[in-house]
Amino acid sequence: MREFLSALNRVRDRTSMKQQSALLTALLSILVVAAMTTATTILIRDRAVGIANHQMTDLAQSMADRLDQEMFERFREIGNFASLHPLRDSWDGAPEAIRRLLDQMQRTLPRYAWIGYASLDGEILAATGGTLEGVSVAERPWFIAGSQATSALDLHEAKLLADILGPSEDGAPFRFVDVAAPVRDEAGNVQGVLGAHLSWSWAQSVRSYLLGALEPDLRTDLWVTASDGSAILGAPYGQPVLSPGQLQIARQTFVGGEGDGTYLAAAVSTKGFETYPGLGWIVVANRPMSVVLADANRVTLAIVLIGTFAAVVGIAASFLIAGRVTRPLTRLAADADRLGRAAAETSVFDRQRGSSDILRLSNSLRSLMRRVDSAESRATEVRDLMERTEQAHSVQTLEHRETVRRLRYLADTDPLSGLMNRRSFLGDAQDVMTFYRRYDRTFAVLMIDIDHFKRVNDAHGHAVGDEVISAVGRVLAELARETDRVARFGGEEFVILLREIDSASLTTWAERVRRAVHAAVVATEAGPVSVTVSVGATLVSADDRDVEDVLHRADVALYRSKSNGRNRLTVSPARTAE
Ligand code: GH3
Ligand code: MG
Ligand code: MG
Repeated sequence: MREFLSALNRVRDRTSMKQQSALLTALLSILVVAAMTTATTILIRDRAVGIANHQMTDLAQSMADRLDQEMFERFREIGNFASLHPLRDSWDGAPEAIRRLLDQMQRTLPRYAWIGYASLDGEILAATGGTLEGVSVAERPWFIAGSQATSALDLHEAKLLADILGPSEDGAPFRFVDVAAPVRDEAGNVQGVLGAHLSWSWAQSVRSYLLGALEPDLRTDLWVTASDGSAILGAPYGQPVLSPGQLQIARQTFVGGEGDGTYLAAAVSTKGFETYPGLGWIVVANRPMSVVLADANRVTLAIVLIGTFAAVVGIAASFLIAGRVTRPLTRLAADADRLGRAAAETSVFDRQRGSSDILRLSNSLRSLMRRVDSAESRATEVRDLMERTEQAHSVQTLEHRETVRRLRYLADTDPLSGLMNRRSFLGDAQDVMTFYRRYDRTFAVLMIDIDHFKRVNDAHGHAVGDEVISAVGRVLAELARETDRVARFGGEEFVILLREIDSASLTTWAERVRRAVHAAVVATEAGPVSVTVSVGATLVSADDRDVEDVLHRADVALYRSKSNGRNRLTVSPARTAE
């Protein structure tokens, strides 16, 4: 966590406000787009699944109702036919007469593949087209059930009729649903059984009719299963379509299949109709999940695209806005840089506008500059006065010379540490820079700042803080060579100028400074105090316009040391003047 924070600080120190705000806006936009997309995706998908569930349930219900209705009609038809009063005598008549009756009935409804009349002992007395006449059906389930009451029997393959009908068009065996009813005599006793085989193709035509009304793109399908969940229509015969768990509930929606074959399904049980008790069939309407979610996926894609576009526009806008906001700051920084150089022709900040804060900052800097100006001109006055006095009194007394020397010392020295002050240091540094320009006499600059110095002040008070500053100053002065210049730049910041040094010895030397401060223990009135320093160092380079450029580079290196964890040295490569 700490490492993350310090890495974050490092990034913060190295990026501009413009970059930071663009980065933040980008992050924020991505977050908003991601949250929006996720939320709408969930909502839209839920809705799409809900609508499809509804449609599937409706479709399955229609199919179940039609199956029940149709089966009920056949059930009632055969029942009525068997018990129709005017026909009662016909059943006792000649087989030809019965056959004619049955043929007539089949013509009115071609879904009857076969209708036959069997005597009580199970022999077919008459049948449509004369088929199976004389054959015994005593063992056939429809005969057994039909001799008791009007009955419907579940789907089965053609048995006795199979040979007669021959192979079907698609090679699949013929399948029938049977309906049978008892025929009674005057006294109400069962005298025979009327049986009919309904060709299963009628259910297929109901299915085609319902599916034909739907958009083919929706790839909706309808399956019918027997009461055990195995397919009897729509899917390969006998294939298990519903798991035992799914069979428990009469009306339900579920997601079936897996991978690319995942589908959304609704299952509805048939219940029979009026006197027809039903055969426990279950209708399953289904649609591939990919089709169900197709629209939702398109909308999601659109939202992602729009969101990304909005984010890009947002980032661009924030770049522009941040640029506008920070422009006055950039100008102020440029002004400050210009005024920091000795040769600045004018020492006034241009007033910057842009916002109330910028205006205030600009005004404060202007008044600060005015104060610096007046302080500088006063110092110049003192110096001029001194020089004039010196010249005027060409014959000087020893005492007078001593006074002048002391005055000069006071003007050039930092009272707390006894080191050079900023003004006198810069004077020397400019000379050294001139030497470098003219004779290529190289030099280096070290910028030094005490780490967490506020803590020393807070813990022990300002006076102890002062003692520590001057102690650090002494450590630096002791290390310095005759030709070096050590100055306190104000606060707890020091600068050292080293002459005639190369890059390798600069590193060694600067590292020695850091270690010396680290090792020193300052005996103060509040007891021993130790501090560390961060150091930034750099060699002068041909690109440097003036000594301020060198100082600036050392300062940047110092801040790198700070943000990399303090108590360390950063040597800035001379070429990368920032
Ligand atoms: P950092 O490691 O980031 O440099 O932390 P720091 O606490 O040293 O922070 P910074 O350099 O920004 O602040 C220096 C503080 O030193 C601010 C001020 O209270 C204190 N200070 C500045 N000049 C003097 C001084 O002459 N005497 C004393 N006792 N304290 C000073
Ligand atoms: Mg400090
Ligand atoms: Mg400081």
